[in-house]
Amino acid sequence: MIRTFKYKVKTDKQTEINANEWLELCRQLYNLALEQKRDYWNCRKQYLRYYQQGPDLVELKKEFIQFKKINAQTLGYVLIKLDQAYNTFFSNLKKKNGRAGLPRFKSKKRYNSFTLDQNGWELKNNILTIFKVGNFKLKLSRPIEGKIKTITVKRTSLGWFTNFHCEIRKTNRVCKNPTKEVGIDLGITKLLYDSDNNFVDNPKYYINSQKQLRRKQRSLTRKIKNSNNYKKQLLIVQKQFEKIKNQRNDFQHKLSTSYVDKYGKIYVEDLNILGMIQNHNLSNHISDSSWGTFINKLFYKVEETGGKLIKVDPRYTSQTCSNCGYIDKNNRLTQSEFKCLICNHTENADYNASKNILRLGQDHITKLSSIEQECYKTSGILEGVNKH
Ligand SMILES: [Zn+2]
Repeated sequence: MIRTFKYKVKTDKQTEINANEWLELCRQLYNLALEQKRDYWNCRKQYLRYYQQGPDLVELKKEFIQFKKINAQTLGYVLIKLDQAYNTFFSNLKKKNGRAGLPRFKSKKRYNSFTLDQNGWELKNNILTIFKVGNFKLKLSRPIEGKIKTITVKRTSLGWFTNFHCEIRKTNRVCKNPTKEVGIDLGITKLLYDSDNNFVDNPKYYINSQKQLRRKQRSLTRKIKNSNNYKKQLLIVQKQFEKIKNQRNDFQHKLSTSYVDKYGKIYVEDLNILGMIQNHNLSNHISDSSWGTFINKLFYKVEETGGKLIKVDPRYTSQTCSNCGYIDKNNRLTQSEFKCLICNHTENADYNASKNILRLGQDHITKLSSIEQECYKTSGILEGVNKH
């Protein structure tokens, strides 16, 4: 399994100059290789693959000595990157009936990252040294795990970033109660409510900073486009968005870890999140809850402990009585309290829903295991037959 660890980095002036020079050389190579691919196509009507272009790199380095400043592998990754752009183009061609844009030549503004593999760098504590470039000081918000396969250095309007792509075989993540199960109901006011009667309020990072954001964005629209003041203000807006994203991400990491530590099986609703975002009244709230990214984190973390995340059918989870099982399809779900018409069971509506989710998930598992047993029996019989 490959996981990416992303960090903001600090550099000194000289390192930045060198890194910019690398980016510029990579960009030149990208454009040269693109030109070569186009010429090849025009002459022979054949697509030139990146490994066919590789040998020309040696010639290129002889002719233009400035390319010797960069690792051979980093230059190789430029060719791979271009190939990936073509792969996207080819698959878009198929999907969109021939309406896809060819990869284009890149301007200085649009070429912002280079990649290294296992050579040409060194990592000591939080200092990443890239030979022939310089030192990058990492803001280590969480530790790097696994074996580093490649490193991508990125230039953004918010400064420099490094992405470590790591191969993870085994993690130290252990679940304390692998047999314990929980149902989780995701919501808006309460981000989640679980079947053990615990809840977590929605921190609403986006909604809470809307006032500030709106003021900053209004100020942006008043500035002349592409002026210096416009660029400064744009950066301020981007920084605010980045901050919201980081806060939410951090919060989700901590929350998902706490569940994975405690439970071996976690049940959630299989929500059509995209469909719900199209409802504009709710969309800000829903994207603020970011259920999708939260479920993803739960999913990969629970897999690491050997546990399971199971998605259940979300229909009627809120309208079913968790006590007697009666489904009240006319229940409009506006109350925070659930009240059963048949058995009079009264309970917090989210708590009631989470218990239904737990039960649905457990039913699902029992069904699955009985099917498995059935298959096992049949295969046993077949094996018996074969032996005779
Ligand atoms: Zn009931």
